[in-house]
Amino acid sequence: MILIIRMQSSSGERTHLLNLLRQATGNQRPINLTIIDEHEVIALDESQLDAATRLVLTQHPAIERVVHVTTPYKLVSTAFKAERSRIKVGDASRCQAVTIGGEDAAPVVIAGPCAVESREQLLTTAQSVKAAGAQILRGGAFKPRTSPYQFQGLGVEGLHLLAEARELTGLPVITEVMEPDMVETVAQYADILQIGSRNMQNFPLLLAAGRNRLQRPVLLKRGLSATIEEWLLAAEYIVAAGNPNVILCERGIRSFDPHTRNLLDLACIPLLQELTHLPVIVDPSHATGRRELVPTMSRAGIAAGAAGLILEVHPDPASALCDGRQSITPEQLQSIVQEIRLLTQILVLKTPLSPVA
Ligand code: PEP
Ligand code: MN
Repeated sequence: MILIIRMQSSSGERTHLLNLLRQATGNQRPINLTIIDEHEVIALDESQLDAATRLVLTQHPAIERVVHVTTPYKLVSTAFKAERSRIKVGDASRCQAVTIGGEDAAPVVIAGPCAVESREQLLTTAQSVKAAGAQILRGGAFKPRTSPYQFQGLGVEGLHLLAEARELTGLPVITEVMEPDMVETVAQYADILQIGSRNMQNFPLLLAAGRNRLQRPVLLKRGLSATIEEWLLAAEYIVAAGNPNVILCERGIRSFDPHTRNLLDLACIPLLQELTHLPVIVDPSHATGRRELVPTMSRAGIAAGAAGLILEVHPDPASALCDGRQSITPEQLQSIVQEIRLLTQILVLKTPLSPVA
């Protein structure tokens, strides 16, 4: 259930409503007023409320409208908002502005190295991904590595280099944040906060990203073996905490077959379009773990309806400190960008199938 608060309601009416809800749920559930698209809303699980309270709510002076949402995730659901969300990325004062998602929007390509390794590596890659036609630069400054003996990223120095790359190219930048206490720092440098697969259910991190003061959009990667519902509930944490700017990223899920690093779940894209208004992008690099599969899976992701791609690119993949096996070269990126432009032209021409006679 989502309660849309009447804009003209008094603070006394709102306080009364909040107290009523707290009492009705035995003070055991968080009841939060969240601002979404300039409307104050309260999302809650209506099964916790008795019939009398539900009736009182329909007539409460602080409430303009009640939207019934039966799925466990509420604010991210299409039952709450049918129109597809368009996520604005990039502060126009420091880089180009890019929009991800929305009806019939052209797919956005995010590209760059898995990890920021050095000034030269990042700036060279940034210029070449821009020349290849990508609109957003990626690069990990804080790397969640499986082994403690692997390269862990340059940390804050990596953030400075990303800011320099943005200044050089005008491209907005995305980088991963792993700790709640680092969210505000990373948000100063990054135009999108990436929450990685290993942290999809790091709830304090989701809340911190939801509350980030600069309201930076969040790219939420699907957990290593997360169900669609767990993923949407993770997105719900961010939105309910006050940040509606969430982009989902399908990056493959664990499977039994080691031939590919993960199993790219392309069916989740049309499925998510039924369930959520949030845009979904595809990461064919982590999904496959093999650069030779990246072009085909990029096309497949766009054909399935993804709002964009995130691709790992390295000027010399063989020497990459992280994920070289799945990194493509700038030349390969250029041909993928060209292919998906052509593909998009075909897809927008699509006409509904005529009924079978
Ligand atoms: C990454 O984008 O480099 C990364 C670590 O991705 P994931 O969280 O999907 O494994
Ligand atoms: Mn990587």
